[in-house]
Amino acid sequence: MRYLSTRGGVEPVGFADAVMMGLGTDGGLLVPEQIPKIPAKRLKDWSQLNFQQLAVEVLSPFVGESIPHADLVELVERSYATFLHPEVTPLAEHGGRQWLELFHGPTAAFKDVALQLLGNLFEYLIAREGGVLRILGATSGDTGSAAIYGVRGKAGIDIFILHPKGRVSPIQERQMTTVLDANVHNIAVLGTFDDAQRIVKTLFNDLPFKQQYRLGAVNSINLARILAQTIYYFYAWGRISGGNPEHRVSFSVPTGNFGDVFAGWLAKRMGLPIDRLIIATNRNDILSRFVASGVYQAGEVFQTLSPAMDIQLASNFERYLYYLLDEDPAAVRALLAELEQTGQLQVDGERRRRVAEDFDARAVSDAETLAEIRQVYATSGYILCPHTAVGARAAADNAEAVVLATAHPAKFDAAVVEAIGIEPPPPRSLQGLLERETRCAELAADAEAISGFMRETLGAVED
Ligand SMILES: *Cc1c(COP(=O)(O)O)cnc(C)c1O
Repeated sequence: MRYLSTRGGVEPVGFADAVMMGLGTDGGLLVPEQIPKIPAKRLKDWSQLNFQQLAVEVLSPFVGESIPHADLVELVERSYATFLHPEVTPLAEHGGRQWLELFHGPTAAFKDVALQLLGNLFEYLIAREGGVLRILGATSGDTGSAAIYGVRGKAGIDIFILHPKGRVSPIQERQMTTVLDANVHNIAVLGTFDDAQRIVKTLFNDLPFKQQYRLGAVNSINLARILAQTIYYFYAWGRISGGNPEHRVSFSVPTGNFGDVFAGWLAKRMGLPIDRLIIATNRNDILSRFVASGVYQAGEVFQTLSPAMDIQLASNFERYLYYLLDEDPAAVRALLAELEQTGQLQVDGERRRRVAEDFDARAVSDAETLAEIRQVYATSGYILCPHTAVGARAAADNAEAVVLATAHPAKFDAAVVEAIGIEPPPPRSLQGLLERETRCAELAADAEAISGFMRETLGAVED
């Protein structure tokens, strides 16, 4: 399988290069040259597999010849051995609804499903192809810890994660700073998340620095993250349908950067019998407005009870746009230019109809989020995290839809306490965090301070 850029400016690359490239060198996102089609007979066979076996099958057509089968099996086994549940992403039934629990990984949120695999892939490819990788990122909470846990202790990789000092939750801060592996470098920036993100952008734009220090990113634009997230749609469908191709399943997906729901869309295009895909957003509703009106227009970013979804411009949206525009990179570039110049882009007619066929969407307020946590707890005793509650409320009129449970409630306990007055018991991964030793540098919100720290940490790099 070869990979192309949504903007048409990258010579086709293989799987390994696509993973290492992350963002396309032309600024676009990488997509497979063809989406593999899985026949109904094979889907039926797959419905008998455990998560790890299924993962190998789902990934194989994308990986192609890039990684020998036995190595892929080993990478998958190792990546999901860190999960606390033997089924990795089990379905749970409570209050008459199926919940797809994606939070049994080391940081108790669904990003582990992709980042545990990505960390191992990076290590494997670096060992094989030589070289080193320095990951640099800014986090407002969830992604930083999942990325750190993905690459901690991995040979050839250093990770630098900036968070705004005192502005992430105490659990999130501890999840990052209690990881003491020598290759993990936490930096508390004396500023806001926007400051941290601006610094990261500045350093990535400093091409000599970027090349000399071999900087890479782990944000949700990496293709491998999307592919890893398709696995649990196949898994849930197999468990619910028993492999019956007539049995179509709907999913409600708490959405921020459009990575998770795009993975569902991709699974459907591969032939998985998915009925409805529901884009569930909080008050930051750019995507639900797009589905309703065909207009994609960023607004102000609001802080909500589901902070991992406090996003306006969704970084994976460009992948969907590429397919909506019939895989025409020139059309993608034109629409993105329109967005850049006017602050909005618009699709109409036939394309609007296709968007409405592909997705339902609903925005959910904080008040509704709290009401949903309360109601599900009252009827079943099951405690939702606020992101999952957004997914459930968006599917209020579709009791059959599986809701993706994207984080463990104990990770977002303030919202849960506000809703039901109860502290959810933490999973083993979140226990004892406050007592553990921490390591974290504190630096000014200044690109030179950060690059200086990185140079000092990595020592002189000779080229
Ligand atoms: C990242 C995240 C989301 C949003 O997922 P996207 O792929 O960005 O749409 C939802 N819930 C939780 C808990 C998350 O960490």
